[in-house]
Amino acid sequence: MAASPKGVTVLGATGTIGVNTLDVMARHPQLYRAVALTANGNVERLVEQCRAHRPAYAVVADPQHEGALAAGLKAAGLDTEALSGPEALAHVAALPETDYVMAAIVGGAGLLPSLAAARAGKRVLLANKEALVMSGRIFMDQIRQSGAELLPIDSEHNAIFQCMPGDFDRGLGRVGVERILLTASGGPFRAYAASDLEAVTPEQACAHPNWVMGRKISVDSASMMNKGLELIEACWLFDTKPDKVEVVLHPQSVIHSMVSYVDGSVLAQLGNPDMRTPIAHALAWPERIASGVDPLDIVQVARLDFERPDMDRFPCLRLAYESFEAGGTATAILNAANEVAVESFLEARIRFTDIPRVISHCLETMELGTADTLEEVLAADEAARAVARAVVTAGGLGRRVTA
Ligand code: NDP
Repeated sequence: MAASPKGVTVLGATGTIGVNTLDVMARHPQLYRAVALTANGNVERLVEQCRAHRPAYAVVADPQHEGALAAGLKAAGLDTEALSGPEALAHVAALPETDYVMAAIVGGAGLLPSLAAARAGKRVLLANKEALVMSGRIFMDQIRQSGAELLPIDSEHNAIFQCMPGDFDRGLGRVGVERILLTASGGPFRAYAASDLEAVTPEQACAHPNWVMGRKISVDSASMMNKGLELIEACWLFDTKPDKVEVVLHPQSVIHSMVSYVDGSVLAQLGNPDMRTPIAHALAWPERIASGVDPLDIVQVARLDFERPDMDRFPCLRLAYESFEAGGTATAILNAANEVAVESFLEARIRFTDIPRVISHCLETMELGTADTLEEVLAADEAARAVARAVVTAGGLGRRVTA
């Protein structure tokens, strides 16, 4: 008898990762069915997705949209239940009928629902890297204690996972892994001179050369903070230290990362830059399923280039290294300050080059504490957001950009 389809909760269903997840699921209705879909406030898209995937629950994080969601579901003739608020996000991440949780809410808002999935022992497909950056130790402890399965969705970490030996949790040294080569496209400003970065606009920052992504991660990619967050993510996922993770610029985004072994072998995972590949890998693991991604034409790609990153032009990467080394609440502060700075840049309140200045200010002026409890992490997150907002509002960072 065929197994019944796995129940999937998609947190952040209306975002880029969420849409790609539903695309892969729809190709395999015999394997996956949507149990719950969530959004922040994009009711129209959420209702449309409910119409196509018929989940039992639809959740908007922002309670002011619950009425519109309920009305939209009713008008569409659906019996999907409308819920709202942060507790509802955590609730649908831990439902008994949910087997897999795609954690694809952007930013710190994803932490609690991602943790709820980990605590409930689900297969957690983790796109929300900010959760690990904020509270890596707590998150990984939760996964181990509950027996949850953690599968990385970030294309780089998914690639590393695919190139690792199956028993890498014994410790990388013990299984012959010498280091991880974390690739980075370099973003839209890879070749810009430092002086040219002062005047770049949000539109330029969001125009990634290889990937279609949400606006926050697009700016992170342009500033290289995305690689900094991924460095921290890799250290937690693979239980290693930054000196074992080398960031390598690879502008074609065809190699998604590599693992270097003590015998000189380097294993790489290649593919077209399309998030449906890591999503399909994590959904089906240890099996393989079709994702809808075109096969890689390696002859068409023809060449693969590599460079070292320039941390003077892209100081966010250095700040990430330093905050991981500092430990405790430093990475929660880094993440929160970055979120405020990116939002302020997208609103044209600060310049692109002010992003690392806001983060440095928070890291330099705030007291670091331990990050052993969720309360400590959330308090550091809140305090860092307040400090970052204050420095943006005070305008002490120099000339403002006109919108
Ligand atoms: P998007 O901005 O496209 O989507 C974000 C999703 O989160 C939307 O569903 C949005 O709802 C929801 N959301 C936003 N704010 C909140 C909130 N406060 N509470 C609850 N839900 C919220 O982001 P991406 O899909 O690009 O990225 C999602 C995550 O995946 C990020 O952590 C990112 O770093 C990571 N990631 C993304 C990759 C990509 O290629 N896009 C690659 C690797 C990792 P609404 O639509 O209603 O606003």
